[in-house]
Amino acid sequence: MSAEVQDRRVDIEGISISTDHFIGGKRVSSPNTFEVRSPLDWDWKLADVARGDAATAAAAIEAAQQGFDVWSRMSPAERGQIMNNLADRIEANIEKIATIECLDMAMLLESLKLRVIPRAAVNFRAYADLAAEYQERVWDSKGTHNTVIRMPAGPAVIITPWNAPFMLSTWKCAPALAAGNSVILKPAEWSPLSLSLLADWINGAGFPPGAFNIVQGIGSELGPCLTGDSRVKRVSFTGSPATARHIGHAAAENIVPFTAELGGKGALVVFADADIDAAAQKASNQFHDSGQVCLAGTRILVEESIRDEFLHKLTMYTEKQIQGDSRDPATTLSPAIHPNHLKNVEAYVDNARNRGDRIVFGGQRWKKDGLWYEPTLIEPKSNDSEVVQNEIFGPVLTIQTFTDEAEAISMANSTAYGLSGIIYTSDAERAERVGRAVRAGTVWVNTFLIRDLTAPFGGIGISGIGREGGHYALEFHCDLKTLQILEDSVH
Ligand code: NAD
Repeated sequence: MSAEVQDRRVDIEGISISTDHFIGGKRVSSPNTFEVRSPLDWDWKLADVARGDAATAAAAIEAAQQGFDVWSRMSPAERGQIMNNLADRIEANIEKIATIECLDMAMLLESLKLRVIPRAAVNFRAYADLAAEYQERVWDSKGTHNTVIRMPAGPAVIITPWNAPFMLSTWKCAPALAAGNSVILKPAEWSPLSLSLLADWINGAGFPPGAFNIVQGIGSELGPCLTGDSRVKRVSFTGSPATARHIGHAAAENIVPFTAELGGKGALVVFADADIDAAAQKASNQFHDSGQVCLAGTRILVEESIRDEFLHKLTMYTEKQIQGDSRDPATTLSPAIHPNHLKNVEAYVDNARNRGDRIVFGGQRWKKDGLWYEPTLIEPKSNDSEVVQNEIFGPVLTIQTFTDEAEAISMANSTAYGLSGIIYTSDAERAERVGRAVRAGTVWVNTFLIRDLTAPFGGIGISGIGREGGHYALEFHCDLKTLQILEDSVH
C-alpha cells in the first residue's frame, strides 16, 4: 500500500530531495524502495526511492481524475500563468537541478547548467504561449454553423527514459498540461531524483491538487498498473522500442491514443564537397554524453574519395576529448549510466570484433574502475552487422563509405530506425534532395541538435509513433469535436 502520507528526504551535497511520490499535491510513501547510485562512483548510494506499486498507481490515477476536473476547466491563460510560475522556479534552481542530475545520470554539469535544464523552463513557457494562441476553427457550410472545439482528454500517463530526464520529461508534460490534461509522470528508475525536485515546486506554482503527479518505481512493476488503467485517457512514452511494444498493447486494450518517441540509429552523411573539418568535429561530438543520445548520428557514411582525410580529422578530434568526472568543466566524455548498460555496450563491441568487424579506435573500458567506455569507431564487415543495425546507446560509432549520392541515401535508409539524420554538404540542391530522401523525423544539414519547439518531432519505423512539438503535441492531448448548429434555427 502507498496510502501513508510522508515526505522522506535525503541530503545530497547539501540539496534536500524527497524520495517519495507526489500524488494529489502531497508526498506519499511506499513500503518498499529501490536504490539509486551515482554513475560517477558506483559505490556512492544517493538514495533509496519509493518503489511504487499497484496501490500507488491507483492513488495517482484517482488524484489525477480529481485534478482533471479543476485543471481542465481553467482557461488556457490561467493554466499558462501556473506553468510560467513553475518555469520561474526551475530557472531559480538551475544549479540545484543540474547538480542532482549530474550525480544521478552523469551528464556533463556545464552542459546541464547552460543548455539542458534551462530548456525545461522554456518547455513550460513555450506551451503556455502555444495553448493561449489557439484559435477555434469556425465556418459556415451546408446550412450549418461549424466550430472545431479542442477538449482536454483526461488524465495522461507520461513515462520517460533515464537520459536527460528533467528536460525530456518537462518536454512531454508541458503540452499535456497546457492542453488541460492532468498528468501522472513516471520517471525512469535509473535517474529519478531531479524530477523529485520538480515536485517540490508544483504546489507553490499554483497547480490544483492532482493536476500534476509524479510517481516513482520500476518500469515493469509500476508501468503496467498505470498504462493498463481504463481511466487513463492518453499515454505518452519515450524510451526503447521493446518497452513501447508493451505499452502499445496496454493502450490498444483500452483504445487510448498513444505516442512513442523511441530509439535512433541516425546516419551522419559526409559528401566530398562538405566542410570536412566541421563534419569530423561534429562526428567526434557524437561521443558526448557517452553516446546516450537518441538523436545521435552514430552511423558515419563518408564519400570514398575523402575517407582517409575525414578519418584522420575524426581521430584527431576524438584524441582531444577528455574522459573524466562530469562535474569537472574540462571533461567532455561522461561515464555510462549504469553497470548493466556498460555491459551491453561492451558486449556489442566484443561481438563485433569476434564477427570480423574492424575496431578502428577504442574498443575497451577506459579504465578498470568506473563506468567509462572509450570512444570507439568500428568499420563493419557489412551493412548487416549488428553494430550498424542496432541502437547501442553508447560511445560507439561505425564508419562506412559510399561512392555516389544514390548509394548514400540507400545506406542512410537501411535500418529499421528513422529518428534523425545529419548531412554535410556545401551543395544547396544536394542538401534539399538528400534531406528530403532520408527517411527520418528530423534531418539536419551542416548542423546538429538545433531545435525549434514549434516544429514536429518524432520518429519513423521503430523510432516511434506520433509527433511531439508545437501544436502537434497539443492535438494529441485533446479530443477534437465538431459542433454543427443549423443556421437560423437558434436566436
Ligand atoms: P526503457 O524503454 O527501458 O524505459 C523507459 C521508461 O519505461 C522507464 O521509465 C521505465 O521504467 C519504463 N518502463 C519499462 N518497462 C515498462 C512497462 N512494461 N510498462 C510501462 N513502463 C515501463 O528505455 P530507457 O533505457 O530508459 O531509455 C533509453 C531509450 O530511450 C533508448 O532507446 C533511447 O534512444 C530512447 N530515447 C528516445 C528519445 C526520443 O525522443 N526519441 C529520447 C530519449 C531516449
